[in-house]
Amino acid sequence: MDVYSTLTPIKIDPGQDHSYFYHIRPLFDVPALMADSGLRQGKCLIVSDQSVGTLYGRQLENVLASKGWDPKRIDLPAGEPSKSYACLHDIYDTALSWGIDRRTPVIALGGGVVGDLAGFAAATLLRGLPLVQLPTTLIAQVDSALGGKTGINHEAGKNLIGSFHQPAFVCADLDSLTTLPQREWTSGLAEVVKHALIADTTFLDFLELNWPSILLRNPAVIGQMVHKAAAIKAAVVSEDVKEAGIRAILNFGHTFGHAIERIAGYGHFTHGEAVAVGMRMALRLSKHLHPALDIERCDAIVKQIPLYHSLTHLSVNDLIESMYADKKTLAGSLRFILLDRVGHAYVEINADTAQVRTAIDDIIHVLDHS
Ligand code: NAD
Repeated sequence: MDVYSTLTPIKIDPGQDHSYFYHIRPLFDVPALMADSGLRQGKCLIVSDQSVGTLYGRQLENVLASKGWDPKRIDLPAGEPSKSYACLHDIYDTALSWGIDRRTPVIALGGGVVGDLAGFAAATLLRGLPLVQLPTTLIAQVDSALGGKTGINHEAGKNLIGSFHQPAFVCADLDSLTTLPQREWTSGLAEVVKHALIADTTFLDFLELNWPSILLRNPAVIGQMVHKAAAIKAAVVSEDVKEAGIRAILNFGHTFGHAIERIAGYGHFTHGEAVAVGMRMALRLSKHLHPALDIERCDAIVKQIPLYHSLTHLSVNDLIESMYADKKTLAGSLRFILLDRVGHAYVEINADTAQVRTAIDDIIHVLDHS
């Protein structure tokens, strides 16, 4: 049976903002989804990166042009450094010199970097253009393309400049995942595992049972996995659009993970790898506070996510300093997302620095000897 036909659209309902659908469909269906979303035919600006643009850009342009659209594409360098003001400016220049109007959709074709960057361009150009998210990495399909967070990085930290801008729809093409490099695939699995650990033990059972097929990207299993992981994210962001409460649980592993990314140098570890290590640290911290937590079960799946570099050069002091520097930048308290039981996360604001240090130390030590 066609995998796509079994995967129903997921509704995201952000309350005050418009609701929209997350579809798992081939790129070929994008023009029909654009029509269904009420987008007016005419110019559309495709933002991609040089890898994804080369693989899928022409195909998307052709399918749009064949249905009466006038697409223009900009391909930016691939990778995290493109979430920058310089690349944002390139998009502004291209869009404004081409002559867009307030109904011209911006179409983000790529991973989380393209989605965040193009999303922020769409949020700010002419005070807001319609946005279409076409995620092509696993991270983007299960996480970053849903929920409307957009933005770029600043020297002071990741994602510090941005806004919420909900897309008109999201369309995840499972076939695009076949060209994803293995390292990006396993990095994306970190966010999938995260969703199971914070919210759904049945999904964790599914991942444990199907892990070998998942690593081999078996299409039927992948379809179900992407659908379930996206549904968890959709439910959380529908409940709390602007992260006033429950949405923060999606940051499980991220307080540690962002510090790892920053101290190692952006791009050294992928975002997913940093989050995977961060989750292992957060699990250690959770165990200190909740001794009954089945940390062995959680750790067993997280440690399946391979790391392509050693952590030994990272100093615990630098990581701690980086986390507290972030706190200073944001003028808030240092929050950790922890588990009090498998499948249930919460925000902890009273974590003891000594215990944080022990959690980091333990994981660096374990990885050093594995
Ligand atoms: P990415 O966009 O850099 O993509 C990773 C690499 O895969 C790139 O080199 C890209 O060119 C390549 N690639 C993408 N799709 C491909 C395909 N189908 N075939 C072959 N190669 C392909 O990174 P990512 O991991 O997708 O996303 C990480 C970013 O997402 C980070 O900046 C992170 O902060 C952000 N993020 C945002 C949210 C949010 O809610 N907005 C959530 C999670 C992560």
